[in-house]
Amino acid sequence: MEKSSLNRVAKHINGIPKSGIREFFELVIGSKDIVSLGVGEPDFVTPKHIRNCAEAAIHRGQTSYTSNRGLISFREAACRYAEKYFGGIKYDPQTECLATVGVSEGFDLAIRALVNPGDEVIYSEPSYVSYPAEIIMAFGVPVPVESKEENNFSLNPDDLRKKITKRSKILILNFPCNPTGATLTASQMQEIAEIATEHDLIVLADEIYSELTYEKRLPSIASLDGMKERTVFLHGTSKAFAMTGFRLGYACGPRDIIDGMTKIHQYSMLCAPIIAQEAAIEALDHGQDAMMEMREAYRRRRDLIVDGLNHIGIPCRCPNGAFYVFPRIKETGMTSVDFAKKLLKEQKVATVPGTAFGSSGEGYIRCCYAVSEKKIAIALEKMEKFIKSC
Ligand code: PLP
Repeated sequence: MEKSSLNRVAKHINGIPKSGIREFFELVIGSKDIVSLGVGEPDFVTPKHIRNCAEAAIHRGQTSYTSNRGLISFREAACRYAEKYFGGIKYDPQTECLATVGVSEGFDLAIRALVNPGDEVIYSEPSYVSYPAEIIMAFGVPVPVESKEENNFSLNPDDLRKKITKRSKILILNFPCNPTGATLTASQMQEIAEIATEHDLIVLADEIYSELTYEKRLPSIASLDGMKERTVFLHGTSKAFAMTGFRLGYACGPRDIIDGMTKIHQYSMLCAPIIAQEAAIEALDHGQDAMMEMREAYRRRRDLIVDGLNHIGIPCRCPNGAFYVFPRIKETGMTSVDFAKKLLKEQKVATVPGTAFGSSGEGYIRCCYAVSEKKIAIALEKMEKFIKSC
């Protein structure tokens, strides 16, 4: 047999399923008149004053690489922001902060820098699609903990305890959560911090949706007693400042871990884009008003979609953060995939099957409400027709 006809892709990569979201959206491409509650990104354009800073950087001729860790002015802004809005955590911009290509890269670097083959990485599920895939790519073992609807999809500390073994090394926390919009309570966060300390776990805190918390926003877990030295804090500008296309994030954490992450970053990425770093300084220093305006719009949309879904007979909890709802469709008797496919085919409303976020998402769908109120109203009307016909 010719070498080229053998399977050339590494075994552990072949074993990873395609992203359930992307796979589903291949069905959407090419279809006309779709109302999409599918893709999880803000429908707002980046605020003008932030775009102006990117433009100014281009006009000044800032088109070069930066140092591997990022512009010091960006890292200073990031550390100021973490201190001001995440519970007073103080990071040294020289040694404890790294500019990354989105939280995506920050997460990837942290996993690769920390996981030895066979290490177990715990996360609540339904979860962001990248977590299990990233863990497998680093030869780690994904250990999901089911977060249940009756607990508002929060991570129950008792359920977490049951999953801890001698091989447990990392705990991923993502609250507000993609896909459920769940947040933690202060007492849950405290208990989780105690568990992490007791079992010597490193916490990867993906706080990308933190600003989009509607009631009682919590500080970062990194700000709790004894947690800074065991937490990698991951944040970025994509969601709160509607800057997904800028691809900018940052990681803050203990010096040894940031050094390890920087080593991978310098060989694989070199640095985060300079123009995005300049724009992000403006977002972090002066973006609060624009962010709050967008958050209020998301809050109105959340209320509209939650009320609407419950009204048409699709039970839906009111989530406290992010821009997703995770309604229950179990009672229709359909699987999540069948429901989402049928809804798309018959009513041209795109949602994501809950199982794209892990097997515990069965019986649910994810709807992203980062779309106009008008589109939400149209989607609800169509979903009502669909439910009546089931
Ligand atoms: N983390 C979570 C939980 C997300 O939902 C997303 C994007 O949807 C990311 C990270 C990636 O963010 P970024 O655009 O900063 O790479």
